[in-house]
Amino acid sequence: MGLKEIGFDGKNFAVMAGPCAIESKEQLLETAKAVKNAGAKVLRSSAYKPRTTPNAFQGLGEKGMRILGEVKEETGMIVETEVLDPRHIESIGKIVDIFRVGARNMQNFELLKELAKQEKPVILKNGLSATLGEFLGAGEYLSQHGNESIMMCYRGIRTFETATRFALDIGMVQAIKEKTVYPVIVDSSHSAGKASLVPSISKAALAAGADGLMVEVHPNPEKALSDSKQQLTFLEFESLMHEMKAIASSVGRKI
Ligand code: PEP
Ligand code: MN
Repeated sequence: MGLKEIGFDGKNFAVMAGPCAIESKEQLLETAKAVKNAGAKVLRSSAYKPRTTPNAFQGLGEKGMRILGEVKEETGMIVETEVLDPRHIESIGKIVDIFRVGARNMQNFELLKELAKQEKPVILKNGLSATLGEFLGAGEYLSQHGNESIMMCYRGIRTFETATRFALDIGMVQAIKEKTVYPVIVDSSHSAGKASLVPSISKAALAAGADGLMVEVHPNPEKALSDSKQQLTFLEFESLMHEMKAIASSVGRKI
């Protein structure tokens, strides 16, 4: 599957939505159906979680991947997931359409080189405090080692501000676009850290010229095993999609 089939043709605004972590078959299936109905193109979800402490929920691992395979089959959605370890690439690759490299692994060069050998697109997220140059350099590890199907996902960086989880400078959308030929996606959930801030960042990303959006959606955010504060409910996601569709037509995009 190439970037065009995923929906990156310069016109579409590709929305990737789903839970932070895969928690159960019911949770993932229910969420996949809800986000698909609302117009999301790609199901986002993680089976392997890079958590700050080893005491936090680490994801369902292989069991999560089996669930993702079943949900993909039942919904027909394009699916992606985070890969933390080169040793997982083969098994994850049997299920997903797109690999995701998380912020904490942006400069895991061996992981990038292994992913470059795969014939699948890669979502590359910027590191927690990466400069544009470092983000672009990480992208070059993929392209120079043979994988040109890259989506640059901007998810903000750490600053001294605590009102948002990570500061997302909307000017970075155009700054990245001026330096690469790859689609630029914004992850509004991980930058916001708080559900009430997610819609405005998402709409700003669309208006600023991003090619896509990544957003976390959960059937019951309060009960989520990770990132409970920032995940949208189905209703909140539907209403965001509704608002984004109106903006999309005025900036020459389709959702
Ligand atoms: C994620 O998207 O699941 C995630 C952990 O985000 P980030 O790598 O941007 O922190
Ligand atoms: Mn998350």
